[in-house]
Amino acid sequence: MAQIHGLAAHAAGAELTRFHYEPGELGPEEVEIAITHCGICHSDLHLIANDWGISQYPFIPGHEIVGTVAEAGSLVKGLEVGQRVGLGWQSNSCGVCDWCIQGRENLCSQSEGTCVKRNGGYADRVRAHARFVAPIPEALESQHAAPLLCGGITVYNPLREYDVNPSSRVGIIGIGGLGHIAIQFARVFGAEVTAFSTSAAKEKEARALGAHHFANIRETRSLKDLAGNFDLILNTASADMDWSALLQALRPTGTLCFLGVTPGPVSLGPVFPLIAGQKAVAGSPIGSPSRIREMLDVAARHGVKAQTEAFPMAKANEAIEKVKKNKVRYRAVLAN
Ligand code: NAP
Ligand code: ZN
Repeated sequence: MAQIHGLAAHAAGAELTRFHYEPGELGPEEVEIAITHCGICHSDLHLIANDWGISQYPFIPGHEIVGTVAEAGSLVKGLEVGQRVGLGWQSNSCGVCDWCIQGRENLCSQSEGTCVKRNGGYADRVRAHARFVAPIPEALESQHAAPLLCGGITVYNPLREYDVNPSSRVGIIGIGGLGHIAIQFARVFGAEVTAFSTSAAKEKEARALGAHHFANIRETRSLKDLAGNFDLILNTASADMDWSALLQALRPTGTLCFLGVTPGPVSLGPVFPLIAGQKAVAGSPIGSPSRIREMLDVAARHGVKAQTEAFPMAKANEAIEKVKKNKVRYRAVLAN
């Protein structure tokens, strides 16, 4: 097989430099994708910096991938060479545990990450188990679809899991890659949506994306005004904040759900509000392959798409710097 060429981090926090590897024989259940687009998810930045202590160098980041099937293993069904497909955070799972059997592969303890201890999508090609490769609906343009493969599913899944509906009030913290898609999906589900941001300049766009309300997350007063308001708060920011105040912002039976990987231990304050309001604190990882297909279909039918800023693949370092500075509106996408 031909070598795969990409851009890799060779040490924690290092700039990406050219790198290639030998993929070996294609497995019978594997698909090789010729990559056209790859979004820059903040998880790539965490992995490059080794924030989670799981990075092995060198590795090629990237897990919001759209491209075409370059080759399919002998046992692959339902995907054809040349077909446009997507691949997200997860590239394989054990296939036999209770969670895989239930079709909730994102909860498998043997889950394989597309760019965790293997090479991902800032490259010309990538491989994955066919189960984790999804066809892209025709109505979605590749550049706007790529961020749905991780950012999109990560916010869509909890909206489904927590049964968001037209009676729901939803708060979204952090209007970045995940958050700007979360606003759109929450509107599709019919919810009343509040965007919580540190960037006053995002208010107009957040409202244009569908937010009914906009609040500065750094102003404790605005949080106090919202006490007892929300059924679901999705935190997409990777920063510590006043979780106790956010629990107060939930209505009875409401859930504070962590999507962003916050650095510090999560301190919830006094337990009584949790008990008295039957409130919950939760986390949610991406979504299963079947949910990803559902999410793409919903996005195609309801016009949900990532607002993107395109960079040539060779300018990945420049794009990463812009993401770090919270300057991208709202997802950087690398294009081959
Ligand atoms: P992103 O595009 O960089 O957006 C993050 C947003 O968080 C920023 O745009 C900013 O929004 C807000 N923010 C930044 N600094 C902040 C601070 N100091 N205090 C409060 N808010 C701050 O990142 P992303 O790609 O959306 O990813 C966000 C997080 O989700 C990362 O930790 C990533 O690893 C994680 N993630 C988790 C999953 C999962 O399965 N659970 C999947 C994908 C990503 P404002 O300007 O509006 O404040
Ligand atoms: Zn991601």
